[in-house]
Amino acid sequence: MSEFDDQTPLLPLARIEELRSLLHRANRFYYVEADPIMSDGEFDRLLAELARLEEAHPDSHDPDSPTSRVGGEPVSGFETVPHARRMMSIDNTYSIEDVRAWHERVVKALDGEVPAYVCEPKIDGVAINLRFENGRLAAAVTRGDGERGDLVTSNVRAMDSVPLVLADDPPAVLEVRGEIYMPEAAFERINAGREARGEQLFANARNSTAGTLKSLDPAVIRARGLRFCAHGRGEILGLEDVTTYSELLGRIRALGLSVSTRTKACSTIEAVIECIEAFGLERGDVGFATDGMVVRVDAFAAQESLGETAKAPRWCIAFKYPAEQAVTRLLKVDWQVGKGGTLTPRATMEPVLVAGTTVQHATMHNIEEIRRKDIRIGDRVVIEKAGEIIPQIIEPVPAERSGAEEEILPPADCPECSGVVEQEGPKLYCTNPECTAQFRERLKWFVGRGQMDIDGFGEKLVDQLLDAGLVSHFADLFRLTRKDLLALERMGETSADNVLAALREARGRGLARVLAGLGIRHIGTSAAKILAGAFADADALLAAKEDELEALPDFGAITAKSLHDYLASESARSTFSLLAEVGVSLESDRSGVVDESSVFNAQVVVITGTFAEFKRSELAERLESLGAKVTGSVSAKTTLLVAGENAGSKHAKAESLGVEIWDEPRLVEELTRLQS
Ligand SMILES: [Zn+2]
Repeated sequence: MSEFDDQTPLLPLARIEELRSLLHRANRFYYVEADPIMSDGEFDRLLAELARLEEAHPDSHDPDSPTSRVGGEPVSGFETVPHARRMMSIDNTYSIEDVRAWHERVVKALDGEVPAYVCEPKIDGVAINLRFENGRLAAAVTRGDGERGDLVTSNVRAMDSVPLVLADDPPAVLEVRGEIYMPEAAFERINAGREARGEQLFANARNSTAGTLKSLDPAVIRARGLRFCAHGRGEILGLEDVTTYSELLGRIRALGLSVSTRTKACSTIEAVIECIEAFGLERGDVGFATDGMVVRVDAFAAQESLGETAKAPRWCIAFKYPAEQAVTRLLKVDWQVGKGGTLTPRATMEPVLVAGTTVQHATMHNIEEIRRKDIRIGDRVVIEKAGEIIPQIIEPVPAERSGAEEEILPPADCPECSGVVEQEGPKLYCTNPECTAQFRERLKWFVGRGQMDIDGFGEKLVDQLLDAGLVSHFADLFRLTRKDLLALERMGETSADNVLAALREARGRGLARVLAGLGIRHIGTSAAKILAGAFADADALLAAKEDELEALPDFGAITAKSLHDYLASESARSTFSLLAEVGVSLESDRSGVVDESSVFNAQVVVITGTFAEFKRSELAERLESLGAKVTGSVSAKTTLLVAGENAGSKHAKAESLGVEIWDEPRLVEELTRLQS
């Protein structure tokens, strides 16, 4: 039992209140004070307890409960709304001389008085205006064109780092401006995930933040770990006693909003310049992307007397740090295989000092870029390190060539597994699903719900098995013994027996699930079903000609060629024969063929809202197995909307289009009828 558990049993409503305030406080200590009062696991456990209690006591409803951050329907778009006060941008410069000139102008305009300045790192994120009314988050609006921005309140509510309710004694209206950004660790985690799924990577944390904020699904946003840092004010009613920016930061921090821990008060321009230079040396280590230092006049009265130009305030300037460059020699290029099978060139160079660190490796993005820039082994190359980003090779210096330089060739086969390498667009991929570099992620996919659906097989077990060296092919899973499993940490006898039973069951899933599970390039769940519909078993598929594959519905020339090349490879033959050896069925599962009398057959179905008896993903799978095509949004093609509780905008749209709408009881009735 932890200190946050219900020590002396409270009435449910009192416990709900206690949990709400505890969780609000936990967020504040985590994000604002950087001094967590509980672990993430504890937080999730208490949040779950609160959700259970709230469900049992609907009269306790509070729109700002910590449980309300996600759970609404994904939004369908963003409304553009005006700002109460214009959101201006800041003049910026790359030159220290310009900062001095700005200082001179400020002093002159203030009749010779040198004002107190505040320096603050400029975070590279997305600017936002948060409006709190009577202490509650009322609106979040992006900068937009400064006059109007996108209303993204529901997405910002999903960020644990933004309080829904202010602490202390909040003013009637408080508009705080700041930056929403993604810490480097979260950025790297997200890109690793995108790479594993073969999706395009975000170029930097700022793009990733902007992309996340535009996401239509609050649950995605919550999982991405966005942060907020306040750096300005909009409309404020109350706080009349606050007369400087530094006081304002202190007050809003006490209200529960994050502010920079690196602001510095400077009383002379020399101190400002020292601060800019000092941060230039350490900004690579702060854990998030910054691109400059904002210098502002602290006192609001002085700010007002300085005023603004048409574009920007005169009381503020941003110094931007230049990207640093250096020249060195390119020694060799290796191809690294990512978790999604992409082969990325990695340059090794003669070590060189750039932006304060010695650099020996750089990224060159992809083979097309290497060709376009005509970079060769042995070239002198210009490299650039822009703060947080991995150094990259900008261009070669052809004038310094000796003639001995060599062209950079794409690898003939995968450096990790010797699998077939395929180029798609500018990128190269290893097509072998059992490639050592990719296998961990592939195996997690293989055992997952839509694929082989092996019960009790979480990511952790996959990690344990790989770390123990027990599995290096998909087929090895089915060779696992009770003894193997019991040797794993925290594996009891019952769990081991359950895993073995699940593996036995999964052997019979049939060819479509196996193909989907292997994660062959271009072959997702629906393509796998088409293949299993067209070929009786794996042998028939392995013998298929390229034009036979191309003739299949939804198979284009690229998919057909890629699949044919893979099927012809050594690795494909071995994957299938090993699976057959351990008794995995590679026959098309004829029982899965759709019953044409099903009422769902050939329907185009959209599922919305929440259901008492189903998860949406399970329901979609079930309806698909009954012949329906399940899509994400209501259109003229939709023939049926299955609407649970809180169906929202899709319901309205379906109604306006005259689409048939079923509620959950009606759905259950039809499903029961099909079963009998
Ligand atoms: Zn490989």
